[in-house]
Amino acid sequence: MQDALEVTGMVLSSMPIGEADRRVVLLTAELGRISAFARGARKPVSALVSSTRTFAFGKFTIFPGRNSYTIGKADISEYFEDIVGDVKNTAYGCYLAELSVMFSRENADGRALLSLLYFALKALARGKMDAALVRRTFELALFQENGVLPEFSACPDCGRPMMAARFLKSRMQALCTECSPEGAGIFLSRSALYALRFIRETPSEKLFSFTLSEETMREVSETADALLSANLDREPKSLALLQVLA
Ligand SMILES: [Zn+2]
Repeated sequence: MQDALEVTGMVLSSMPIGEADRRVVLLTAELGRISAFARGARKPVSALVSSTRTFAFGKFTIFPGRNSYTIGKADISEYFEDIVGDVKNTAYGCYLAELSVMFSRENADGRALLSLLYFALKALARGKMDAALVRRTFELALFQENGVLPEFSACPDCGRPMMAARFLKSRMQALCTECSPEGAGIFLSRSALYALRFIRETPSEKLFSFTLSEETMREVSETADALLSANLDREPKSLALLQVLA
């Protein structure tokens, strides 16, 4: 067996294997997304029972194997019990975790995404920020992290600062109201543009602390939906439950 590695990460999903084991998908700072085997994690006496639950965050000691890693031990600093204990929060959390699986890569730096997910879950658990807004903020920050969130400051066609804009799905860009055809795309008010710029420019630890009016929320949500359908080949499975509960 090769030497043990210590990684910081979070369990994104956890699946029972056979009688007593689990296979988990971990998002790690050091190795991006990895698949790991937890031997005996379903035996009540195992120290790995709680550390292989979805959202468990902490340090994992792992051993590289031929196809997968094996978890030796885990030192969990955060279980996100306020999420697991609430049906609606769980639905939101599972959706964020599923998007994280879809947008993460193996053997790549996972630091930025792990931090984004951690602070989004913290915000859900605290319950001060509207859960739907946590979701939209997470999605847009995820696009920013993946280089697919356009700018919302100067109009790409005329170069003037945008006071209001229309987001055109044909270009996946927002153009000022002068440059875009009347009635086309998603109208973005000044406050929606401000919110989108805020999400683009703010580090994840300071991101989940704002509110939006209903109207602005609608504009931001439609923009996020347009970017989601352009950047995913399939709809996340957890979205169906979220739509029922939200
Ligand atoms: Zn323009």
